Amino acid sequence: MGALAVPRSADAVVVGGGCMGASTAFHLARQGLGVVLVEKGHVGSGATGHSGAIVRQHYESRVGIRLARDSLAFFSRFEEETGLPCDFRRTGFLSGSRERDLPAFEALLGLLRSEGVRAERVGSDEATEMEPRLDVSDYAALVHDPDAGYADPIATAVGFAEGAGRSGARVLEGRGVVEIVVRKGRVAGVKLRGGGSINSSRIVLAAGNWTPAIARRAGVRLPVRFVRGEVAILRCPPGFGAPPRIHFDFYGNTYSRPEAEKDVLVGYMDTDPRKAVRGPELRDDAIAAATVRDLRGRLARRFPIIARAQPRGGWSGLYDVTPDAYPILDAVGPEGLFVAVGFSGHGFKLCPEVGRLLAEYVASGRRPEALAALRESRYRERKPVVPDAPFPRRRRRLP
Ligand SMILES: Cc1cc2nc3c(=O)[nH]c(=O)nc-3n(C[C@H](O)[C@H](O)[C@H](O)COP(=O)(O)OP(=O)(O)OC[C@H]3O[C@@H](n4cnc5c(N)ncnc54)[C@H](O)[C@@H]3O)c2cc1C
Repeated sequence: MGALAVPRSADAVVVGGGCMGASTAFHLARQGLGVVLVEKGHVGSGATGHSGAIVRQHYESRVGIRLARDSLAFFSRFEEETGLPCDFRRTGFLSGSRERDLPAFEALLGLLRSEGVRAERVGSDEATEMEPRLDVSDYAALVHDPDAGYADPIATAVGFAEGAGRSGARVLEGRGVVEIVVRKGRVAGVKLRGGGSINSSRIVLAAGNWTPAIARRAGVRLPVRFVRGEVAILRCPPGFGAPPRIHFDFYGNTYSRPEAEKDVLVGYMDTDPRKAVRGPELRDDAIAAATVRDLRGRLARRFPIIARAQPRGGWSGLYDVTPDAYPILDAVGPEGLFVAVGFSGHGFKLCPEVGRLLAEYVASGRRPEALAALRESRYRERKPVVPDAPFPRRRRRLP
């Protein structure tokens, strides 16, 4: 990758070298299209580089479960497919339900299983055997998904981009798209910052938080808000043993996963609406010490020894949030323009399948059935994605 001469034309231009753009470019190039992937910084420098990169299948809607399930299968064979590792580590996933939420919990378990997810129901004793430091005193039952894990988000984006390059795609880093050229209602190409342009009749906007502003200049309004997401890194106290597998605590509002051999990565399940920001640029990607303390305190309610864990920093990133917390994956505005935006803080795990489906759409011009629920018009039609099995009953925590 790196600085290359700008090609005059391409079968398709993909704007944005995050995990979504890189995956889409990879799948388009594999279909034999001449692709240029344009990234204003370096590949993986946006939300992807800030991601917690948890790869779980635990969704409340069929559309989410299917995208996550098929993406997880790809993560497991990533190196075979792209030629580079994404360091996917299978850790397993645990999450518990209190007595009052058991009916919703059972319904969700049924939904996951009906989609082929290995969602195992475990009792408190079994969970304590699996995770001896976990406080299960308020849990009536837990779900275990042995297949879940996490990957290296930057290696994933770079692996897709390099894999695209091996199939003939051009990857331009350090070149921002400033305008989508539209002629007679069709896209005709892109103009680049610093001069130069690429002619193309197919453009995929996968520029993350920057997508709405670029789309607006082409006459398309997208309902996306920007919300700060934060993760903290905690060093497990000596003697703690291996960091616990992925845990979603719906009651304490934390998710956590191992970070390498000795640390835990922890973040909030729910994004705080007060953390919305006005524009796509994150001026400061640091995390406040008070936030790290709050996250540690919450996690310590689930893993009491974590109260003694040493904070080792963390970071912030921006979520691109839609009204139903599901992405918009569709053709919009002028003919030939496609968008992949609005991943609402949970897109990383979906990028292999999103890229594959979008590439199919772009190459064939026919929307794959799997993307119908994620069409842009669903908000105007008042048909947003709704959970098929919401958990817990009273509060919606997961998309
Ligand atoms: C703190 C945090 C934790 C998260 N944890 C998880 C998790 O555990 N699991 C999970 O599944 N998801 C998680 N996510 C969400 C996930 O990281 C995102 O949904 C995903 O990375 C979005 O990828 P993207 O390619 O759409 O966007 P981005 O990664 O933002 O990529 C967009 C790219 O476009 C480029 N760009 C912008 N404008 C232009 C332009 N004009 N021209 C050219 N290039 C341009 C940017 O530089 C950027 O590289 C997390 C996100 C954050 C912030």
